[in-house]
Amino acid sequence: MKAINWRNLKFRPNVRKPRGLDTFMQTRTRKVVVLGATGSIGKSALKVAKDIPDRMRIVGISAHSNADALAEAAKEFPNAKTALSSGDGGQERLVELATMPEADLVLIAIVGTGGLKPALAAIEAGKDIAVASKEILVMAGEVVMEAARRKGVRVLPVDSEHSAIFQCLDGQDPQSVRRLILTCSGGPFRKTPSHELAHATPEMALRHPTWNMGRKITVDSATLFNKALEMIEARWLFDIGVHRVEVVVHPQSIVHSMVEFVDRSVIAQLSHSDMCLPIQYAVTYPERVANSLEPLDFTKLGSLEFEAPRREDFPALDLAEAAGSVGGTRPAVLNAANEVAVEAFLAGRIPFPGIWKTVAETLQRCPQVPKPDLDAILAADAEARSVAASLAN
Ligand code: NDP
Ligand code: MG
Repeated sequence: MKAINWRNLKFRPNVRKPRGLDTFMQTRTRKVVVLGATGSIGKSALKVAKDIPDRMRIVGISAHSNADALAEAAKEFPNAKTALSSGDGGQERLVELATMPEADLVLIAIVGTGGLKPALAAIEAGKDIAVASKEILVMAGEVVMEAARRKGVRVLPVDSEHSAIFQCLDGQDPQSVRRLILTCSGGPFRKTPSHELAHATPEMALRHPTWNMGRKITVDSATLFNKALEMIEARWLFDIGVHRVEVVVHPQSIVHSMVEFVDRSVIAQLSHSDMCLPIQYAVTYPERVANSLEPLDFTKLGSLEFEAPRREDFPALDLAEAAGSVGGTRPAVLNAANEVAVEAFLAGRIPFPGIWKTVAETLQRCPQVPKPDLDAILAADAEARSVAASLAN
């Protein structure tokens, strides 16, 4: 087995000390709760569990309101506890699932910030968390990472870019990192002239060129708010200033992200665009396990292209860089305003560029609170939602 340098691993702040081999072998099968099991990530997670059953056992699954889909999933995993999170007491049911004694890893795959409370409850109960819901790290990254450090549990990235960076950083000295380079497909409007963006419909925005995902994140990919949120997500996961997180457009979505080191060497992670791999890596980490995923055939890939993002036409990246540099409640405000604006766009209430406008104006109107605790973050989130809703009408 590869020797791991366990000293001074700032980029692996949530890595436990090595255990004896016997204990390790007994804990090879991760008992996993999937919150948001009926969504795009949730379904991929259940697929992974079927692919590597000796390494991943599903012990709990939740949906929000889609009871039929939850029942379907429960048929495949009859021993898993189930919960529906819509209606009265929904959050408590999620917390109950996230803290169930038999679980040791909780995958947060809920769209938006509904996973924050159960994620914090899981951490308090001493469980590792695997985070797909980038919104909770954007909103409350400092609180989540601090709680994980205090409890000595891992926060494992599931977002493909962050999983890629996590893989590139494995075993590296954090002092040797120069910058993180997030790749970005560019979304469906990568080549659309800026004057035509005003006419972009929800149907057009929902047609993603390379990834098949839930509606909210697909619209985020079209505005580049997805990459904007990911810059702030990286800031917290890897404890690095947001100005050292760069974005490059890579339309083929084969290179999932890269790390540049001080000696100017760049390490990248490549694979097909399938979320099963980052989900599996979070589950089996620090090991790699054989699976049934399609191998990369470089002779058939053709060319891999890279280009600069159109920051002026897609202002999400600049908004995130500013919010991420100031910190405090700015990222929570940005995230909340974006969620409200995406809903308004999908409902036909605002045009596509209205998403950026709503977020920018909400940021202007909401006060900044430095060093917020969880209550201050929740208050800023609520205020931003109400300001954004009044703007996006
Ligand atoms: P989907 O919309 O496909 O699925 C969302 C899941 O969350 C469903 O199970 C849904 O239940 C449940 N849900 C919805 N609202 C709530 C709520 N208020 N409280 C609790 N549960 C809720 O989303 P995705 O799977 O695409 O995305 C999930 C998260 O993962 C997002 O944060 C996204 O940014 C992130 N992500 C997704 C990627 C992808 O490839 N899809 C890639 C990287 C990150 P129901 O079915 O009952 O509505
Ligand atoms: Mg991503």
